[in-house]
Amino acid sequence: MKTPIFTAKATTDQLDPALLTVQQAQTQIIDAITPLTDYDSVAIRDALQRILAETICSPINVPPYANSAMDGYAVRSVDLPGSGTIPLKLIGTSWAGRPFSGSVAVQECVRIMTGAKMPVGADTVIMQEQVRATNDSIVIGAGHQRGQHVRHAGEDIQQGSTVLFPGKKIGPAELGLLASLGVSHIKVTRRVSVAFFSTGDELRSVGEPLADGQIYDSNRYTLFGMLQQAGVEFIDMGVVRDQPDAIENALLEAAKHADVILTSGGVSVGDADFVKDALDKLGKINFWRIAMKPGKPLAVGKIGNAVFFGLPGNPVSVMSTFYQFVLPALRKLSGQTSHSPLLVRAISKSPITKRPGRTDFQRGILFSENGTLHVDATGMQASHILSGMSRANCFIILAQNAGNIAAGSEVEVQPFVDFWS
Ligand code: AMP
Ligand code: MG
Repeated sequence: MKTPIFTAKATTDQLDPALLTVQQAQTQIIDAITPLTDYDSVAIRDALQRILAETICSPINVPPYANSAMDGYAVRSVDLPGSGTIPLKLIGTSWAGRPFSGSVAVQECVRIMTGAKMPVGADTVIMQEQVRATNDSIVIGAGHQRGQHVRHAGEDIQQGSTVLFPGKKIGPAELGLLASLGVSHIKVTRRVSVAFFSTGDELRSVGEPLADGQIYDSNRYTLFGMLQQAGVEFIDMGVVRDQPDAIENALLEAAKHADVILTSGGVSVGDADFVKDALDKLGKINFWRIAMKPGKPLAVGKIGNAVFFGLPGNPVSVMSTFYQFVLPALRKLSGQTSHSPLLVRAISKSPITKRPGRTDFQRGILFSENGTLHVDATGMQASHILSGMSRANCFIILAQNAGNIAAGSEVEVQPFVDFWS
């Protein structure tokens, strides 16, 4: 069934009224995505990068019992001297995992290790460095605080409290947090599956010799890396020749198996229109021209139930359009809580050339100098310079209407780490 989605609305940009702004394109894409409603139960070791689909409440207090934060002696605070010193009788030891079973009475103490349970009667720990100890007694001085060096039951997490909400992406801290609660399995959204292929008669795969006029297909490798980091499942369908039938078959095959289909190449104006022809037959696809650089052409729509993105062919455009349009869609499909982009301000080291009309995603190197963030563009900014993307650690985002930027001006920067969470 052909479902019309992604109804493109043009801006009133005076330079090119047919262009969509980056934000309009992002909003239309996100609005058309419905999160998956299939779930898996996974062991926490298998849950890294998965999206939580339940609320986790703590069945226990963490820590479960009051314990010592130091190696030292557990004492009663009423025995702490206001001045001078006082001897305390040593009546036993509380080890981590082997608590002292008795209780501490007036002018008594128990040797205690870090993490060991506080004995009954004691409420304060004196560091071992701060006592004079013999075999059966210690001497403590003044200046200690009542309750010092004690970690209280439930101090990290209270029994019954909500610890994690649905939509949370599980990272290393969440794995440890779940383990600290004794939770062994969690409910997560099914992994999004993404099928992708490259189009272009000039493309050869790694391992094949290059004839005259041919280049290696790099987009499939970039996409592989970005999809892997996004935590989705993927199907690499290789290179598809610029032939309508071949492209149509590949798209139909992809739509059978995947939630999302990505292609690269074949969507720009003046291209041999193989991808466009195939797409027009298969679904409701919009051919957008977005006011962004790199990455002006983008095809979006649906083929069967699969969401389709026809990315541009140029290697840097593939990355910029993936990060700005595809990644937010994948996050929403997987049920991840909506993500606010990490945008910071930095001082541009050098002047930047820019013409008003399109939002520019220049590749930059962000660094700190004397406590202030600076950024340096990575040289030639054309959309085929993948080496610049490799040197970069951020996009320098220059507003659609901005012109040239003087050295020393403040610019907006999106660090690449934002795409890994
Ligand atoms: P197209 O949009 O198909 O006209 O491609 C635009 C530019 O990107 C051309 O220079 C293509 O050779 C190049 N290109 C397309 N696909 C790939 C790919 N998978 N890997 C590397 N370069 C590509
Ligand atoms: Mg092509």
